[in-house]
Amino acid sequence: MSNFPQSNRTYQIVHDAVKHGYAVGGYCVYNTDGVLATIRAAEHSRSPAIIQVFPWTLHFHGPPFIQYIATLAHNASVPISVHLDHCLKPSDAELALTCAFDSIMVDGSMFDDEEEGIEYIKSVVEKATEKGILVEAELGRMEGSEDGLPKIEESKLTDPMNVQGFVERTGVHLLAPSFGNMHGGPVGVDKLWDVDRLKAIYEALGSVTPLVLHGTYPCSDEMLKVAIANGMRKVNQNRRVRLKYMDFLARGSGKLELTKLQEEGVEIYAQEIEEIMALLGSKGRG
Ligand SMILES: [Zn+2]
Repeated sequence: MSNFPQSNRTYQIVHDAVKHGYAVGGYCVYNTDGVLATIRAAEHSRSPAIIQVFPWTLHFHGPPFIQYIATLAHNASVPISVHLDHCLKPSDAELALTCAFDSIMVDGSMFDDEEEGIEYIKSVVEKATEKGILVEAELGRMEGSEDGLPKIEESKLTDPMNVQGFVERTGVHLLAPSFGNMHGGPVGVDKLWDVDRLKAIYEALGSVTPLVLHGTYPCSDEMLKVAIANGMRKVNQNRRVRLKYMDFLARGSGKLELTKLQEEGVEIYAQEIEEIMALLGSKGRG
């Protein structure tokens, strides 16, 4: 792919957010309803978006499902890219690089030895670059779990002094820092974020390597804005945007026909996503 990474879709989407100081949502989906809801919300809000899946999807649905997402995403009337989130196993990274992803997140949290982690991530970046695929990685480790991910017991916070060296040595294009954020924490856990640490990480990196926020449920709108003000340009969204959808499915299941469940479910799901697009400032940027 010539002119990489500028020609990459995720790069273009995230760097437009860098240029204009907003954040784009990385919407984690598990089924076709999630894919359709994200695309409809993005087109209706004229917002860019990133559709992301976990390796679980890669195995449960298989690579043709990634091709399905990419076909719809890449033919939408606004910029939408396809991303693999939290790729833990080296074998999954290998598989992902043969799929229609625009970008992947390499999760090196299984490496206790930092040097080993850096070497591994660097090797994935090299292979991904050959295929024109962008790479996001975390430095440190985030506590908690999401549907489809193993539980991490203990956080390891990102040292602002290490971020530049990590990015230079691995060649990653997007960085997910650990600053007290966690996946699926108790209500109010975002108040424990070490915002000064995040600020220092942002200052150390500047806008060359945009930051990615993980662990946004539960997270107040106020703290989301603090994160965006401190350099978060890709903000992952999972449970929050599908709570009303799942509630609708629970209430409608067994009463409504599947066609109605899907049509109305996607509509409800899309409305939730549109609210987040307005909050992140991506609305009208597509
Ligand atoms: Zn995450």
